[in-house]
Amino acid sequence: KSVFSNLKSQPADALLELIALCREDTRENKIDVGVGVFCDDQGHTPVMRAVKAAEIQLIHEQNTKSYLGSAGDIEFFLRLIPVVFGNDFKDHERLSGLQTPGGTGALRLAFDLIHAGNPNADIHYGNPTWVNHLQIIANTGLNSISHPFYNREKRQIDFDAVLDDLKQVKRGDVILLHGCCHNPTGCDFTFDQWKALSEVISQKGLLPVIDLAYQGLGDGLEEDVAGLRWLSQQVDEMIVTYSCDKNFGLYRERTGAIFVLSQNAESRKIVQSNLIASTRTHWSMPPDHGAAAVRIILENEALYDSWQTELNAMQQRISGNRQSLAKADSYFAPLLQQKGMFSILPLSPEQIKKLRIENAIYMAPSGRINVAGLTPTTIDPFVKAIQKVI
Ligand code: PMP
Repeated sequence: KSVFSNLKSQPADALLELIALCREDTRENKIDVGVGVFCDDQGHTPVMRAVKAAEIQLIHEQNTKSYLGSAGDIEFFLRLIPVVFGNDFKDHERLSGLQTPGGTGALRLAFDLIHAGNPNADIHYGNPTWVNHLQIIANTGLNSISHPFYNREKRQIDFDAVLDDLKQVKRGDVILLHGCCHNPTGCDFTFDQWKALSEVISQKGLLPVIDLAYQGLGDGLEEDVAGLRWLSQQVDEMIVTYSCDKNFGLYRERTGAIFVLSQNAESRKIVQSNLIASTRTHWSMPPDHGAAAVRIILENEALYDSWQTELNAMQQRISGNRQSLAKADSYFAPLLQQKGMFSILPLSPEQIKKLRIENAIYMAPSGRINVAGLTPTTIDPFVKAIQKVI
């Protein structure tokens, strides 16, 4: 009997299916708020100027394609530390980590590491979360448990429910948090909420895993990690999974990193050896190009400034779209309190389908929209189409 005949067909990824549908749609007025990539005023996802310059430099300078090793570009990793943890970060002796293929690769390593350390740890997450979180956790063999997070009626975080739930979890469990620009809701914790969370996390001895995939696209590079940095000072152990794919516009180059804070230098060594062992059975070594470009940007003051300026403009464009929507109709008012590319519109599957068929508007089945997918010419027809279905 064939090995393949035992396979069960897997459900298609709803969002990837939507992307294909949108691509096939030949209507000129189509509006894509489904796919999760940043778009400029022309609806185009650009290569950032600093990235282009770094790539050109890389082409000229690089004289070998020989292996770099399982940790990838070490200088890339080291240069990212102050971006994430701040210039005054001092805990290098207990920080391990390495370059990964995107934030997804970092998440895979994070949950592998947790599974290797404690296969009975439950992973607690606020509902809803990025769907791939749950698939990755399940693939590593760990159990995940949801708690209430997003209140669909109020279109905001139900923080009391989050705290109440965390107080019930067992010691040694894991809490998965979005560092900023929550996907899919756009609802981020306030700094005071991060402080309250930190207290429960450290009291209960929970291991926080912070998924940081959109640094700079919420309120700014520093502002977006204020909560994460606070938490990192209250706990002995913490994992950060990082993606450069949005804030450097490197999506297909698969650029990310994992950072693990452990109790001391000794545990750091053991954690690092486990991370390396894990990469060997997944991808052996991460792809170089994207991380090399980021490293060049972080090494060069002028390129760093250019990157920061362009990232700020991207962030401004997203919050500008949020303001335009809220100004056009109070239905969109909650979007002003939300951050980053995503928000959820309270629409039924029928309404979402109607928008696609009648108006060529493509959004995720959950009602999640990519605010950055709207342009000055599409905002108005988008608002009118929504007004018609609600
Ligand atoms: N975490 C979240 C919350 C995301 O939205 C994404 C990207 N959609 C990732 C992680 C993974 O990013 P990458 O493309 O770098 O693997």
